[in-house]
Amino acid sequence: MSDALTHLTIAEARDGLAAKKFSAVELAHAHIAAMEAMRDLNAFVTETPEIALERAGQSDARHGAGSAASAMDGIPVAVKDLFCTEGVQTTASSHMLEGFVPTYESTVTANLRKAGAVMLGKTNMDEFAMGSANITSYFGPVKNPWRLNDGKDRVPGGSSGGSAAAVAARMAICATGSDTGGSIRQPAAFCGLVGLKPTYGRCSRWGMVAFASSLDQAGPMTRSVRDAAIMLQSMAGFDPKDSTVVNEPLPNFEAAMAGSIKGLKVGIPIEYRIDGMSSEIEKLWQTGIDWLKDAGAEPVEVTLPHTKDALATYYIVAPAEASSNLARYDGVRYGLRVSADDLTDMYEQTRAAGFGREVRRRILIGTYVLSAGYYDAYYVKAQKVRALIAQEFAEAFKKADVLLTPTAPFPAFAIGEKMDDPVQMYINDVFTVPASLAGLPAMSVPAGLSADGLPLGLHLIGKPFDEATLLRVGQAVEQAANFTALPQLLGKA
Ligand code: GLN
Repeated sequence: MSDALTHLTIAEARDGLAAKKFSAVELAHAHIAAMEAMRDLNAFVTETPEIALERAGQSDARHGAGSAASAMDGIPVAVKDLFCTEGVQTTASSHMLEGFVPTYESTVTANLRKAGAVMLGKTNMDEFAMGSANITSYFGPVKNPWRLNDGKDRVPGGSSGGSAAAVAARMAICATGSDTGGSIRQPAAFCGLVGLKPTYGRCSRWGMVAFASSLDQAGPMTRSVRDAAIMLQSMAGFDPKDSTVVNEPLPNFEAAMAGSIKGLKVGIPIEYRIDGMSSEIEKLWQTGIDWLKDAGAEPVEVTLPHTKDALATYYIVAPAEASSNLARYDGVRYGLRVSADDLTDMYEQTRAAGFGREVRRRILIGTYVLSAGYYDAYYVKAQKVRALIAQEFAEAFKKADVLLTPTAPFPAFAIGEKMDDPVQMYINDVFTVPASLAGLPAMSVPAGLSADGLPLGLHLIGKPFDEATLLRVGQAVEQAANFTALPQLLGKA
């Protein structure tokens, strides 16, 4: 029974709880046992089994009284360790924040809690969400539960690598992620999951550890498109504490998924056919186009000429904002302090000891591009290119309802690869970053396996605040792909 419980989708668990086939406490126990059994993956920084059981008990009481709070009531959720959780350590996987216990709850996790979700623990991630492989965490790398027979562990992608590994390995039914340039979608692709980055402004950023504030967005990581709709419903919504959240009623995302995609125009951006794209990825993309055509949609070519500049733009804008956001870690207000003789020395020593290499690199790049002598040449230029990228998307969406691209240029690579050259690592984000710069909703859906047997994802980009169409088309991809493979670690591949 307990194995079966960890293989449920949110929708199945919701229905089972409503029909009293099992209790929320049983569901929580099954996942706590899975978390313990899979500790070797290093997916969690902090496990919170007591909290899970307490909240599951409360959920059972609500179910018993016929007053479940939402579809998420009783659902075990893993929380990326950059959502502040009241009374529970929140580290953003940085030594700088080790031991930091917030006195407040982020809006997204508060919303999930109000919806009745059961928090299992806080997941490992790239330090301050900077990375694409979950190898920059102070708490060590996360292993992807998808394996090959070469004895090498694969990365789960990043930065939401712990969340992705936890859901793929059936330690949690779903997880929160955050996406600045691809951190929900790329790990979802590497781990065979659905990952949805909502429109910028859909979910509140309040209480999330900030990386790049004009890009950061929370979103669901799940095992089905329907689950992404259900989970987003509970995460999203207006919040007076974040001035960038839209004050609009939420559509019913699950209901909006119903219906066919007949007649929808699916844009294929020609510039995404990048040099050196593997034939495997190219083939997958073509297969995706064919699937949507078979389902009644019409593929149309669109052009996004500044795609080639998106990565460079992102790697100026994001570090610039990060260097400013991370100025708050001064040894006075949060977490780590290295004592020294005077104040300046204390700042320097604390920041040198608290931040890892990649975070220091980003702070240096960010400080440089914002410095008086280089501000116009880099930062202002990047902002202009960002505006052009957004305009080009707006033009493309005059011809298309949704865009289809690959999620990542390659499948999960071995831990240790691509580590010496940051630019190689940044190429992970080539397909995900443009939508981030334009603030658009985008989603990765598992679409097949590589020749080696590792998951590959297809990527859909939607119009602003049109997650509903994204979900509808995502479901069409999901149905056509019929992705049922399981990570080798679970022994059922
Ligand atoms: N991989 C990208 C980076 O390192 C994106 C990270 C993210 O989306 N948080 O910045």
